[in-house]
Amino acid sequence: MGAPPLLRTTVRHTVTPLTPAISEASARPAVHEHEVLNPATEEHVATVPATSAAEVHTAVTRAAAAQRVWAALAPADRARLLRRFAVLVDEHGERLARLEVTEAGHTLGNARWEAANVRDLLDYAAGGVERLTGRQIPVPGGIDLTLLEPVGVVGVIVPWNFPMPIAAWAAAPALAAGNAVLLKPAETTPLTALHLARLALEAGLPEHLFQVVPGAGDVTGEALVAHPGVAKIVFTGSTRTGKHVMARCADRVKRLTLELGGKSPSLVFADADIETAAAAAPMSFLDNAGQDCCARTRVLVQRTVYDRFLELLAPALASVVVGDPADERSQMGPLISRTQLERVRGYVPEGAEALRGSAPDGPGFWYPPTVLTGVRPDAPVATEEVFGPVAVVLPFEDEADAVRLANATDYGLAGSVWTRDIGRALRVCGAVRAGNLSVNSHSAVRYWTPFGGCGQSGLGRELGPDALAAFTETKNVFISTED
Ligand code: ADP
Repeated sequence: MGAPPLLRTTVRHTVTPLTPAISEASARPAVHEHEVLNPATEEHVATVPATSAAEVHTAVTRAAAAQRVWAALAPADRARLLRRFAVLVDEHGERLARLEVTEAGHTLGNARWEAANVRDLLDYAAGGVERLTGRQIPVPGGIDLTLLEPVGVVGVIVPWNFPMPIAAWAAAPALAAGNAVLLKPAETTPLTALHLARLALEAGLPEHLFQVVPGAGDVTGEALVAHPGVAKIVFTGSTRTGKHVMARCADRVKRLTLELGGKSPSLVFADADIETAAAAAPMSFLDNAGQDCCARTRVLVQRTVYDRFLELLAPALASVVVGDPADERSQMGPLISRTQLERVRGYVPEGAEALRGSAPDGPGFWYPPTVLTGVRPDAPVATEEVFGPVAVVLPFEDEADAVRLANATDYGLAGSVWTRDIGRALRVCGAVRAGNLSVNSHSAVRYWTPFGGCGQSGLGRELGPDALAAFTETKNVFISTED
């Protein structure tokens, strides 16, 4: 998800004085608690109470009441309040970024971009409030109108890999479309979400409109998915859990958006600018230590330039700065947890043929940048989502072979095509089954363009011009003009 620097906008806002009305989102009796660790040091950061199923029920009831108040506001007022929320996020950008460094091990540069992304998502969604229009469709004997009504209460279930942006991808347009939001962060990374909920209140959004319900997936998440008062779920996480959530939503025909895993290819053709492609390859799967559903973890290289590509890739990989995520020079930090570290280790066979970078020793969940060569295309590391700083490089013969290899996966989230031939670029983009493709670039996510997956990478689209509509129900109204 790492966006190129040109996308990391630094829009500044004029700040008007705001009434502080900070609510303690965590001031509820603890049923269970979750410990938040700093993944770079393994030090204790915070203990966050978990939300029980009964508390989820209370939260849904309150959210439903707040939603009615919110939906009844004039669109311009809703937009103004969301812009004010964006202003506060901007003001608190450094605080939010530092929280993300501490709880998720994100590099400071990434975390600052992520806080700014939340601000931009809120601004963009605020601009949509007054543009959320239905249609007037010609019919005989009257007038036909479509109304885009908010669905009601939306449950947003967020993973630990990008806690802030993924929360805001759904929350910002859902709120803008007139809904209430209950946000369940991942067990390991609840702190930025809790801070955002405080800022929403401080901005003047109605109390209980945007609530954070930290807790375990199988308790708090389940309760949110099962609750009849929650009209839509946006789930981002593993394909395995996503399938389970989908089945639970089916019980109530609940609306659902799924953003799941990926095993995205980067296709490097012999006619590409090989130097640029090789220089760009490391960060395409090392950003966020590879814990990115869009990571280009299958680097497919035309056989005639395969050796040259590896020659160029080796120094590029070795030059990636892996270290203290709070240090501005770091390009890659630790993995989120010991469990994740063990999982990643399990994918890399002892003595495997590989190019490697370096990583710190000592405390923290560190794994070095690793590119495996000589791997069979059907090996688990070449087909399953590793969610770590590990990629494979595989040779291909020609365009048809490249497309076949690229599509040899159940996933279909992202992909990159490196070629100087515009016709080939378009042909391959047409043939690769994925929701987000880029040519001569690895960029995948912009808040104003659609994002989502094909196949087992997901269902539905987020972001972009239609983001608000995904949180509405279309109601058709026919008005007779007969005497
Ligand atoms: P990971 O295995 O990487 O933690 P998951 O897909 O299990 O990824 O988790 C993503 C999010 O889904 C987290 O917020 C987690 O708590 C939540 N979750 C896990 N299990 C369930 C479930 N049964 N119902 C709803 N949410 C869940």
